[in-house]
Amino acid sequence: MKFPIYLDYAATTPVDVRVAEKMMKYLTISGIFGNPSSSSHVYGWKAYEAVSSARNNIASFFGVCPEDIIFTSGATESNNLAIKGIVYAYQSRGKHIITSMTEHKSVLNTFYYLKKLGFLVTFLFPGRDGLISLESLKKEIRYDTILVSLIHANNETGVIQDVEMFGKFCRSKGIFFHVDATQSVGKLSINLMKLPIDLMSFNSHKVYGPKGVGGLFIRKKYKIHIKAQIHGGGQEYGIRSGTLPVHQIVGMGEAYRILHEEMKIEVHRFKYLKHYLLNGLQKITKISVNGTLKNSISTLLNVAFHNINSSILILELHDIAVSPSSACVSSTYESSYVLHSMGCNNDTINSSVRFSLGRFTTFEEIKFSLYKIKSAIFRLRDSNML
Ligand SMILES: *Cc1c(COP(=O)(O)O)cnc(C)c1O
Repeated sequence: MKFPIYLDYAATTPVDVRVAEKMMKYLTISGIFGNPSSSSHVYGWKAYEAVSSARNNIASFFGVCPEDIIFTSGATESNNLAIKGIVYAYQSRGKHIITSMTEHKSVLNTFYYLKKLGFLVTFLFPGRDGLISLESLKKEIRYDTILVSLIHANNETGVIQDVEMFGKFCRSKGIFFHVDATQSVGKLSINLMKLPIDLMSFNSHKVYGPKGVGGLFIRKKYKIHIKAQIHGGGQEYGIRSGTLPVHQIVGMGEAYRILHEEMKIEVHRFKYLKHYLLNGLQKITKISVNGTLKNSISTLLNVAFHNINSSILILELHDIAVSPSSACVSSTYESSYVLHSMGCNNDTINSSVRFSLGRFTTFEEIKFSLYKIKSAIFRLRDSNML
């Protein structure tokens, strides 16, 4: 079977070969397989060293101290831990929390869950361009607001929220600010030494590392205390118990080391490829881009092909692996709540496709994809079915 061209990097990325090679040294009897918590022998020491070195890579990528990074099983867990960890620890101060309608499900459903538990929850709506305004946040702030959680770059539209602006405002009000940076890592420079962010979630598998590992940044300097959600051996400063998956963490560390070194050049290439893809798509009639292009990451393009159902288009595009504007929702196609919250009409929502490119995308692949997309659209619009 010939595999289609992969243009779904926002769903997950292949592990970089350099990462996989490094990970393999941390599994078998001839490698470093110890438990990093075993402090009585060299197997444990070596494993501990490997974890520390990965933590250092990640911390230096974000410009923070290694002590501020906690390993988790992925961004879903990091989002849960950050949000629940804060609200359970600080609920005596207030029970009001704010997020947006364009969050990833792991934030949105955590908020819905907390609402059921009796927390007061506000969801901010973006404008037609996908951007949340500071005014809308200012309007919703109350005396008992304890947390604001916002996505940095959206996984469906690529739209970037101005987290610096929101962070400054939250800090001026003494409100905790959490950011889901899972999609922005590797595309935008994120300097946490400067950005007023208190907690930030990220993972490994969206940046060429293995699945099943992620991280949470917690600004220790501010003595932010979060309640553990998993109890056990007290690993990760007691915030996240469980034996550390050394090979996964080593892989993630290597993925971030590579990003640190290569991101600038890589993003330059992404911009060029996205521009080429966009130009080509714009030659097709009746298309529109969802979300502002001015504030969007270089790897993602969400396009509505009006009057064409995206699931039919995707079937027709069997040479290209893309997602309708809503992946991640098990195996059922649920129409996109992100586009809905932006005020897109049903035709736009049902005809939108997310193209996302990455490290291994070539110019030839984009060219070939454009050719295939154009001919598929031509066939579908020509047939009376639609
Ligand atoms: C993929 C993704 C997540 C979930 O990450 P996992 O590591 O797969 O749990 C969370 N937020 C955003 C924005 C994502 O794109």
